[in-house]
Order: sequence, then structure tokens, then C-alpha cells
Amino acid sequence: MILLKTAIELQNWITKQKLKGAKIGFIPTMGALHNGHISLITNSKSQNLLTVCSIFVNPTQFNDSSDFEKYPQTIESDILALEKVGTDLVFLPDLAQIYPSGTGQQPIYNLGNLENLLEGKYRPGHFQGVCQVVDKLLDLVQPDKLFLGQKDFQQCMVISKLLALKQSQTELVICPTLREPSGLAMSSRNMRLSEIGRQKAAMIFQVLNQIQTKLNTQQPIDQLIEAGKKVLLEAGFERIDYLELVEAQSLEPIAHWEPQKQAVLLIAVYLEGIRLIDNLPLINDNIFLQFS
Ligand code: AMP
Repeated sequence: MILLKTAIELQNWITKQKLKGAKIGFIPTMGALHNGHISLITNSKSQNLLTVCSIFVNPTQFNDSSDFEKYPQTIESDILALEKVGTDLVFLPDLAQIYPSGTGQQPIYNLGNLENLLEGKYRPGHFQGVCQVVDKLLDLVQPDKLFLGQKDFQQCMVISKLLALKQSQTELVICPTLREPSGLAMSSRNMRLSEIGRQKAAMIFQVLNQIQTKLNTQQPIDQLIEAGKKVLLEAGFERIDYLELVEAQSLEPIAHWEPQKQAVLLIAVYLEGIRLIDNLPLINDNIFLQFS
């Protein structure tokens, strides 16, 4: 496995591989890798000759500086895991490699309402930061395919939009959310939960499933949502930023459920001071491809 730290070395390597006609799959990450990340690598390896993974904790996507400072860093075990799964190249840039002129003057992306809803509402500027770093990484890696996790549903929609804005030839591949046996979505942030917190956090996915099961009953959606929120708050979750049923592409709220609607349940909650997100699409995964 090749390990590179500078943009110029990466570009040289990519140019050589492209000249040989190699297809490249790319997985951008912020490290603290778990099996969810590894599943993206495995997916890429099955579809491309070469797989490139980046690890970079991008400051411009953190609206909360303490969240950035506390972001888990496990670089040695990350490198071992990436080598074990057969990653071809790991890119480990520092801040200056990604933002040579500093983080101050960055482009603004026209993401429409996608960046104001849900995560966007509670994390202002987050998706602009995500686009800034992904835009730069895409320019460096020029992947044939980009692999993202459905775990970050709204992020998938935002990156689809970014690819469209860039008129990029890169194909977006959305991979399913990997979960713990309890149903808890794997996340780097889970490392910061206590053992009891980790068990309790499994309720997030249970609540999403309970709402889905009851969607075809006559009970109004807002009542189902309120009941779900109550269960979580009574169990000791400190705060619920949102629990919403939304239209899968626009992410606008759905007031009346109809089975033919392409919808997704999205949630963001706090437990033990840690912000956790999850979602349950009530749709066919191909929905994502319509943006590219
Ligand atoms: P992150 O390091 O959190 O920025 O995540 C890097 C990539 O891994 C993103 O595309 C995430 O959506 C994806 N990812 C994170 N958690 C999971 C999971 N549990 N299952 C599948 N993909 C995931």
C-alpha cells in the first residue's frame, strides 16, 4: 500500500495510473475507521482496478470547534485496516496540502435549499465545508467512481449536486449503512459513547423502524414522529435536533404518507453530549443516480 502526504506526489501517481488506463475508485474519510468505511473500500475494490482512500479531518465542515477538536484520531490502526483490506493508496494530507492559501477564502457552492434543511439548519456552513474539501480531493484524485455511505444521506444528496455543478464525469456509488448487531449505525463518534450509551443508542434505529411499521396506519405522521421523540427523550437522549419524514430528493417534509412517495426518515440526536445521525430510506437506492 502506498502512503502519500503531498498533493503533487498524489497527482504524479494518478497521472501514471491514468496513462495505463487504470480505473480508480475513491473513498474520502475523516479517519477513525470502522467496518462501515471498510465496506466502501471493499465495494470500490470489486468495481475498480485501483482504490484510493483519503484521511483528512476537514476543519471547514465543523461548525462547532470542540466537535472538531474531539474528533477521534486513530491513524495507526486506520493504516493497518486499510492495508489489510487491500487499499492501493492512502492520501494523508495536512491542512496546507488541501488549503494552500488558508481556509479563509473558499468558493461558495449553490446547493439550493439542500443546505438549509435538517443538518444544514443545525450545522450552518457544514455542507459548504464538505463541498470545499470534496471538490479539492476530486480534482486531485480524478476518480472514475466515488464511494459514499448512505449513513450520511443528506451528504450524499449534496455531493450528487456538487458533481452536477462541476459537470464531473465521476460516478457516485452509494453504499448501504453498516450497523452494529444492535442496529446502531456504525460511526466514528460511537467511540466516544460509554458502554451503556452504546446500548441505548440502538434505540435510534428501533424508533425509525417503529415509525416505518406504523406508516400505513391511519395515524397522522406528526403523531408518529412525536411518539418517537417522546420514547427517545424519556430514555435519556438529551436533545433531538430533528426527526422528520422527508421527500427523498428535495428533503422537504412530507405531511401525508403515500407508499409510492420516495421518502426517507432522518434523525439527529444527542446522547452523552455526542451528536448521532441515522436514517431509514423508504425507497429504492437508485434515487441517488438521478442527480448525476
Ligand atoms: P466520515 O469518515 O465519517 O467522513 O465517513 C466517510 C465515509 O464513510 C462517508 O461516505 C460516510 O457516509 C461513510 N460511512 C460512515 N459510516 C458508515 C456506515 N456505518 N456504513 C457505511 N458507510 C459509512
